[in-house]
Amino acid sequence: MTTDKKENFKDLRDLSLDDLLELVSDMREKPYRARQLYKWLFSVAVGSIDEMTDISKKFRAALKARGFGLRSLTVKETKVSKDDSIKMLLETPTVPAVLIESVLIPSDDSRLTLCVSTQAGCSLGCEFCMTAMGGAGRNLTLSEMVGELYAAREVIAANVGEVYPEGARVTNVVLMGMGEPLLNYDEVLKFLDVLVDTAAFGLSQRKVTVSTAGITPMIRRLGQDSDVNLAVSLNAATDALRTSLMPINKKYPLKELIEELRAYPLKKQRMITIEYILIEGVNDSLDEAAKLLTLLSGIDVKINLIPFNPFKGTKLKRPSEDVIADFRDTLTAGGIRAVVRASKGLDVYAACGQLSARS
Ligand code: SF4
Repeated sequence: MTTDKKENFKDLRDLSLDDLLELVSDMREKPYRARQLYKWLFSVAVGSIDEMTDISKKFRAALKARGFGLRSLTVKETKVSKDDSIKMLLETPTVPAVLIESVLIPSDDSRLTLCVSTQAGCSLGCEFCMTAMGGAGRNLTLSEMVGELYAAREVIAANVGEVYPEGARVTNVVLMGMGEPLLNYDEVLKFLDVLVDTAAFGLSQRKVTVSTAGITPMIRRLGQDSDVNLAVSLNAATDALRTSLMPINKKYPLKELIEELRAYPLKKQRMITIEYILIEGVNDSLDEAAKLLTLLSGIDVKINLIPFNPFKGTKLKRPSEDVIADFRDTLTAGGIRAVVRASKGLDVYAACGQLSARS
């Protein structure tokens, strides 16, 4: 794909279908033109406006005259983990450029999940997260998040035979990379729309998950605006502990968060995923597990227990296997489905909480 650094450059892939309809109407073109553009942008993955062969030359020229073009992320580096996860370091074509990371995570059941970043950094400062150490970064745009998906296609193709089987493709997308998706709501919503639209990427809504640290005013909105899965990074059952791990809890305390989860418009046969990073001596006691059961009682949830993934500069540690198993068993005995999620990509710093975009 081409890169265009002209100052007035506008990436056509930043436009949703509604935006494209508005654009074509503004350009006195028929509405079906918007659908044509949409297909080229989010299904065929062309690299330039000139590759859109069923669009007239005149209309293509008019788009370019308005400053529109297409550009892509550059894959700066890839690291293949022992478990076949691939961490990608990507650079945006913007001025200034920013670095982001995305991770491809294969599963035994032939799923291939892409963990997408929604911001180039994060302002929330969670204690257990390496992204937080780099501080805040800007929101990523629709074209940049879609660019992560296209970069993943490129990386998969380059690794077919070596790492992935013939025909491998991204089957699931989780918005759990760098950043808090609900603080970039409008662009994230546009991204979710193209992910699940059959005229674009066509993923099932069940195969797309948004993970939040608990931006409570936006949770219900997400439930109204989209049918994708919701995951909440909880990590503690009391405000004091949660605030010490996740400063955002001060602004949006547990009571408010739990109320939002109770009110969440869950679709039939769906559950909210609760993510709980288990940290030795911090939140891994059976007492904490019992409090968690009380806190979540009556809400349709499943809990993913993620043993802490250490990184340079943290004093936090991963609990022993026995402690992890006891914690899980306490939750299960209390009637909540809890699974210990084996973190993938640990050896290449691609596991949960380990993304930093530092080469
Ligand atoms: S865990 Fe998520 S919300 Fe918390 S600092 Fe890291 S990227 Fe931000």
